[in-house]
Amino acid sequence: MHILILGSAAGGGFPQWNCGCSNCAGVRERRFPGKARTQAQIAISSDGFSWFLAGASPDLTSQIENFPELHPRGTRGSPVSGLVLASADLDHVAGLLLLRELQPLRVYASASILRILREENSMFGMLNRVDPQVLWTTMKSGTPFPLLGSDEKETGLNCEAIFLSGRYPKYVKTDATNLGALEASAGLFFQSKSGKRLAYLPAIGNLNHDLLRKIDGVDLLMFDGTFWSDDELIRVQGVGETAHQMGHVPVEESLQLLKDLKIKRKMFIHLNNTNPVLNESSAEHRAVRQAGWEVAEDNWRLEL
Ligand SMILES: [Zn+2]
Repeated sequence: MHILILGSAAGGGFPQWNCGCSNCAGVRERRFPGKARTQAQIAISSDGFSWFLAGASPDLTSQIENFPELHPRGTRGSPVSGLVLASADLDHVAGLLLLRELQPLRVYASASILRILREENSMFGMLNRVDPQVLWTTMKSGTPFPLLGSDEKETGLNCEAIFLSGRYPKYVKTDATNLGALEASAGLFFQSKSGKRLAYLPAIGNLNHDLLRKIDGVDLLMFDGTFWSDDELIRVQGVGETAHQMGHVPVEESLQLLKDLKIKRKMFIHLNNTNPVLNESSAEHRAVRQAGWEVAEDNWRLEL
């Protein structure tokens, strides 16, 4: 399995346009011991020919330009065959609108997310102006499915979504009682023909026993690194919600909760600009590295 990290920051990126926290100011002034990052986005392929995106970040077009693997072959036609959506959060789906140039694509998501995008948000109609263009495909929790290429053939990559929460984005108008109780967000598990497994979990609000068991033994874990501590935003901004209230287990807690699992390679991704882990000379960054974790960076290429 080939994995490209196109972006590794949480929504807003790092630095974030309207943030002057010490991290953002430092990286703008080029005196920060750490790297700028675009919004979280990965691409996965089994055959190196057909690529699938997990989510569609608002930085997607420039992120695609950074990777020759994702450039068109010939005068027209992208090696990106499809996308798997874990949520309807803006920083996870806004990039779909940047893919409206009549490219046939398959988009996999839960029934509730497809409904929100297609029935509540008329702009996404731009993805169905011609036929074939975007083919929307419903995924069910705990049911693995093959990721199909634009020729309808299997690409050697399977995906399994585990639905995790009923926390829908604030823009959603549909009464939540008419949406799936757990279809708002999903953990994504990808498996290649050779049996290698990737768990992509950039937004996890609750690390329950079932999820821990599902993660145990994967070859690569990319996990929610949004906040270091529960009160991080409140401490930096003076106001705001806790990490848990925003649907994220903070890193200092997940380090403990995940420490006994047998995972070959593990890294935090989806880092908010306020996270002290971004600072490579911080005690928090050291603690993460000493616990055997990596801190994902833009433009990494990984092989499983
Ligand atoms: Zn900031």
